Amino acid sequence: MVSEVLNANELYKVDPVFGQQSFNNHEQIVFCNDKDTGLKAIIGIHNTVLGPALGGTRMWNYNNEWEALNDVLRLSRGMTYKAAVTGLNLGGGKAVIIGDAKTQKTPELMKRFGEFVNSLGGKYITAEDVGMETSDMDLVHEVTPYVTGISESKGGAGNPSPVTAYGVYMGMKAAAKFKFGTDNLEGKSILVQGIGHVGETLVDYLTKEGAKVIISDISEARLETVSKLYGATIYRGSDLYSEAVDIYAPCALGATINDDTVNKIQAQVIAGAANNQLANEQIHGAILQDRGIVYAPDFLINAGGIINVYAEIAKYGKDEIMSKTQNIYNTTLEILTNADTHKITTNQAALYVAKARIDARKKENNK
Ligand code: NAD
Repeated sequence: MVSEVLNANELYKVDPVFGQQSFNNHEQIVFCNDKDTGLKAIIGIHNTVLGPALGGTRMWNYNNEWEALNDVLRLSRGMTYKAAVTGLNLGGGKAVIIGDAKTQKTPELMKRFGEFVNSLGGKYITAEDVGMETSDMDLVHEVTPYVTGISESKGGAGNPSPVTAYGVYMGMKAAAKFKFGTDNLEGKSILVQGIGHVGETLVDYLTKEGAKVIISDISEARLETVSKLYGATIYRGSDLYSEAVDIYAPCALGATINDDTVNKIQAQVIAGAANNQLANEQIHGAILQDRGIVYAPDFLINAGGIINVYAEIAKYGKDEIMSKTQNIYNTTLEILTNADTHKITTNQAALYVAKARIDARKKENNK
């Protein structure tokens, strides 16, 4: 009994929500639990100054609930700045469902999740992320209008991943222009880590341009399929980060640039789709800057997906989706140049633009 009390006291030393390392003045955090379907989800609403908080739902087999909470807090914050830097009238939010998408995702669970989203009255709008398919969003759509990324046959803009891949490709070309003086990727060695929905389409763009593409994934089946389809080389080494490539494209999960990897990375450019690539924005961003590695901020270059889903709300068509996404090239080049001029990290330069837009709207709203 005594030890139980002591353990509880130990726990109270860390405030579980507002004291979380990743808590960044989030407006609202919603814990969703449903015994019948086994749903355990967390919705993070970071900021709604520019508009409703839009962001995908990730289903992942987290090791524990702290990991899930930390993930949703980091991801929802990232969405705020992604929408802001891209010029969209959206706030930042994200949801995570705790569980294995392959074995625990059922139509009942998805619909129950949709009911929780609905209960927020439009303050949070969901979409797909890792572990989700367009068909899952169609299920959510049966119980709430506050969902994007639904099938084209149901009036949606369809799967956002190909558009995300196009934006990453544009951001990568801009970063190459900045670092190598040309945006032509022909002959460049590019390591794509994670060849899922986004990674595969990126590999398609890169191989078409004549880049030497190396792929890595935890799924052997994906590696075989993508390698056969596009002629990409499968990475078989044991120290991926030390690989001497021109460009590293993280397209799996976040935080791959961390204490263990940041000093090993040999690539001269980092440009990929994964959210929150820098485990610690300040520390790891600064090390990349010192080492002369050009980091294209993730939340800037992976915005194609949100541009695509926002089309369902703002009612614009495919041409505008693609031209807005293509513009990621110009924004990236501008931000990399600004960072260089002001001797700040590229991540800071992108955040600066995003925060300035949010502050200006806040002032307008308070007039
Ligand atoms: P996905 O689940 O389709 O693909 C992820 C791939 O990464 C899978 O093939 C998986 O096997 C692989 N993977 C997982 N862990 C790995 C590891 N340790 N090493 C190598 N491979 C690993 O996801 P996606 O939709 O392609 O998204 C990829 C990333 O891009 C995610 O971080 C996601 O949040 C981000 N993102 C996606 C979109 C989008 O439109 N889908 C938009 C913005 C950002």
